Amino acid sequence: KVAVVLFTRDLRVHDNPALSAAARAAERVVPLFVHDPALPAGDNRRRFLLECLTDLKASLRQRGADLVELRGDPATEAVRVAKAVGAEGIGVAADVSGYARDRERRLERACADERIALKTFPGVTVVPPGAVRPGSGGGEHYKVFTPYWRAWQAQRWRDVEGAPRKLRLPDDLPASWFKDRPAPTGGESAARRRLTAWLPQLEGYEDNHDAMAADKTSRLSPYLHFGCLSPREVAARVDGHPGAEPFVRQLCWRDFYHQVLFAFPDLRRKAYRASAEEHWRDESDALQAWREGHTGVPIVDAGMRQLLAEGWMHNRARLITASYLTKHLNVDWRAGGDHFFDLLLDGDVANNYGNWQWVAGTGNDTKPYRRFNPIRQAHRFDPVGDYVRRYVPELADVEGKAVHEPWNLPEPPPGYPAPLKL
Ligand code: FAD
Repeated sequence: KVAVVLFTRDLRVHDNPALSAAARAAERVVPLFVHDPALPAGDNRRRFLLECLTDLKASLRQRGADLVELRGDPATEAVRVAKAVGAEGIGVAADVSGYARDRERRLERACADERIALKTFPGVTVVPPGAVRPGSGGGEHYKVFTPYWRAWQAQRWRDVEGAPRKLRLPDDLPASWFKDRPAPTGGESAARRRLTAWLPQLEGYEDNHDAMAADKTSRLSPYLHFGCLSPREVAARVDGHPGAEPFVRQLCWRDFYHQVLFAFPDLRRKAYRASAEEHWRDESDALQAWREGHTGVPIVDAGMRQLLAEGWMHNRARLITASYLTKHLNVDWRAGGDHFFDLLLDGDVANNYGNWQWVAGTGNDTKPYRRFNPIRQAHRFDPVGDYVRRYVPELADVEGKAVHEPWNLPEPPPGYPAPLKL
C-alpha cells in the first residue's frame, strides 16, 4: 500500500496527524510539497518557507524517506504523483483560508475523478475550527473570545502524537522530484530548539510579555504559522506548568481567529461586524510615512521599523501601530493589514486580519471604540525607551523616556521628522 501526504502549512514530523496516519496505514509513504505560484506570500515568508522545507526534508531522510518537491497546482500535482506511484490515498491537513479551502475543493474533485481517496486531518490549530460551537453545539461560531476560551479549555486536546520512527518511499522515484538546499535556520528543528530554550521564561510570561524592550515573548509565531510546531503539542507541553495559562490563552486566541475565518471567509476584505461604521480617509502620504516608520511618533516608528528589519513585530507594537493608523490617521485597516501581511514571517489571514479588525473596531472587540494613546502606551510598555532607541537610530542618543516625546527636547534630533498632522 502506498499513500501520498501533501504538506501545506504543517511542515513537521512531530504530532502531524496526516503523516502519522499515512505511516500507520501504508507500507510506503510519499511526502510531497507543491510550490504553488498562485499562493500569496511576501519575500520574507517565501525565504522562511524554503528553510522549513530543507529542515523537513532532513527529518524525513533521517526516517528513511525524503521530500518530493514539485511546482504547479497542488491539486493537480498531488493527483499526478498519486497515480504515478500507485497510491490509494492522499492525506492533507485541513485549513481555513479561502485559498486553502479552494485548494481542498479542487483536490477533492481531482481525487474523485481518479478514484483516489482523499483524507483531511486536523493539525493547523489546537482545536479544529468548528469543533467548539456556542449554544450547546448548535450555534454557528463564537464571536466573542471569553466564552470561546471557556469552552476551548474543556476540550480534549492533550493527546499528542510523536514522529513516525520509520518511513519508506516507493522505489525508483524520479531524481527531478527532489531538491537540495543549504542548512536552514527556519523549520521544525529550529522551532523545537526555540521552544525548549524559551520554556524557562514561561513562568514570567504574564508579567513580561508586554515589556517591549525585554523581548520576552516566545517568538514562535512564524513556526506556528508554517506548522513547524504543532500548536496542540505546544499547548500540551506547557499545560499545567506554573505561568502556563496566560500563554495557552494566546494560543487559544489563535484558534479563535481561525474559527472566525472559517465561519467568515471574507475576513480579509469585509468588516466582520455588519453594523460597523467605516469612514476611512484617503491618506496616501500618511500611509506611506507609517509604512516607512516616519510618522514622527517614536513608538509607532520603532514598531514599523522592526517589521521592516525583522519581518516580525512585538505584539504590543502591532497593537499600537495598527491603532495609530486606523484610529488616529483614520486610514483603512485593509491597507495596514495588507502591509503587515506582505512583510510578516508569521503573516496569516486569520490572525492578521482578525487582529486588524479587532483593533480597527470592525471585528471581535467588545469595545470597538477603544483607542490606544501611543504616548501613554510608550511610557507604560517601554518605560525607559530602549525599544525605540533599538529601532530608530536618529533617536539613539536621546536618553531615557524623553525619547518618546522628541518634540519636547530643547533641540529636535537631526533627521527625525515632526509628528504627522492629524
Ligand atoms: P507569544 O506572546 O509568545 O504567543 C504565543 C503564540 O500565541 C504566538 O506565536 C501566536 O501564535 C499566538 N498569539 C499570540 N497573540 C495572539 C493574538 N493576538 N492573536 C492570535 N494569536 C496570537 N499573529 C500571527 O501569528 N500572524 C499575524 O499575521 C498576526 N498579525 C497581527 C496583526 C495585528 C494588528 C496584531 C495586533 C496582532 C497580530 N498577530 C499576528 C498576533 C500577535 O501579535 C503575534 O502572534 C505575536 O506577536 C507573535 O509573537 P510570539 O510568537 O512571540 O507570541
